[in-house]
Parts: sequence; structure tokens; C-alpha cells
Amino acid sequence: MKLTILGCSGGIGSGRHTTSFLVDDDILIDAGTGITTLRFEQLLAIDHVFITHSHLDHVLGLPLLLDAVGEQRTSPVVVHALPEVLEILAEDLFNWRLWPDFRAIPSVASPWLRFDPLPLGAMCTLGQRSFTPLPVQHVVPACGIQIRTPAGSLVFSGDTTQSAAFVSALNAIPDLRHLIIETSFENALADIARESQHHWPDSLAAELAGLSVHPEVWITHLKPGNEAAIMAELRAAAPAWDVTALQQGQVIRLD
Ligand SMILES: [Zn+2]
Ligand SMILES: [Zn+2]
Repeated sequence: MKLTILGCSGGIGSGRHTTSFLVDDDILIDAGTGITTLRFEQLLAIDHVFITHSHLDHVLGLPLLLDAVGEQRTSPVVVHALPEVLEILAEDLFNWRLWPDFRAIPSVASPWLRFDPLPLGAMCTLGQRSFTPLPVQHVVPACGIQIRTPAGSLVFSGDTTQSAAFVSALNAIPDLRHLIIETSFENALADIARESQHHWPDSLAAELAGLSVHPEVWITHLKPGNEAAIMAELRAAAPAWDVTALQQGQVIRLD
């Protein structure tokens, strides 16, 4: 399994893109502005999109993707997410006002878009790759995603603040090789982080202290302009962990 980081910033500006990862050539994890770095042929090859939550920085490329490729595809793009998240996408995005409902275009019988509810505890297997939503804590319904392969597991937290359920879920993955986890704000903005249910360096350090597994830890969703400061605070707060800032364009392989 090859994971290509199309976007991993907490915002835009100066070439930064928001969250979107490509799994091999056919699956997306989230559809932030990172999706715009793909060529049209690459967009056409995407059969499945897993969405962690409904916030715009994670979904804004999805309606544009469907509009771009729908006509040239022979099967619908399948969007997998928690049932609550799909409900929000249906009511607030694909609602014929903000964007057409591609679940009925060109017809309900043969649409460009299909929703696949994936509740916590369920698993979706596509070839050698299995996707499992994990519980996290954010201001809207949200999940992390475990990608299991024969060579081990990778977990992406999506957006979250501290969550005992997430730590328990991680500790139950003995083959966890990579953990991509967010830290959006520096410690001075802990109040805003708490309010918006994101991590800050001290909260992430506390979370890592609860881990009994030892994955490589990659930090994502850093706020633009504050990347270096957040990483410096994180290294100071969690000296036992060799945390690294995830980079746009980076490839993580599990094979
Ligand atoms: Zn969010
Ligand atoms: Zn976000």
C-alpha cells in the first residue's frame, strides 16, 4: 500500500493544501484542496473516497471531483463515511442548492455518486486494504481511519482532540506502524483548540503517553505559519517520541 500526501495543512496559502491522501491510485482519504494537485487521469481513477468528517477543509474537493469525472466514468464514485457524516453531506452539500445531488444524476438507477454508510465497528475491504473507522472527538461527527494491509496498519486521526476511546483503539492495533495525527494549534492557543476540539502540543503529548504501541508518528493539520512553533513545542512536550511533520508530496509505504 502506498499513501501519497496530497495535502496535510490546517489551511491554505503559499502552496499549502488541506487534507487529502491518495491510497495507491484508486482511493482517497478526505477530499480537501490537496485533490487539486492530481491530474485529470488520476481523478478519473478514483473509485472510493473515505471521509473523516464534513468540515469543508476535508470535503470541498468532493463535489468538484464528481462534476469533473462523472460523465467519463462507468461506475459511481463510492463515498464511505459514518452514517451521521453522510446525512450532513446530503442535507448541507449535495442538496441541489449548494451543489446538485449526484446520487440522482444522471439517474437514480445509474448515478455518478453512491453513499456507503460505514459505522464505527464496521470494516470495508477493498483488495488487500481494509478500512475501519475509529472513534475520535471533534465538534461534528467524525472518525479516524485505520488502513490495514498484510504488511501492517496505518491510522489517520482526522480532526480530533483528546479521546480515551481513540487511544484504546490504537492500543488494540498490535501491528500499528504509522500514526498520522493532528496538532492544529500551539500551546498559547489551547483555549481555541479546546473550543474547536483540536489538539495542541501538550494535549497530544498526553495522548502519546497513553500509548502502549510504538508507531512512527506524523503530525498533520498544522495551522499555516505556525508549523515550526507547534513542532518545537511538541518535541519539547513529548521528548520520548520522534515526531515528524507530515509533508505534502510525501509517500508512506506499507509493503
Ligand atoms: Zn474539522
Ligand atoms: Zn480540518
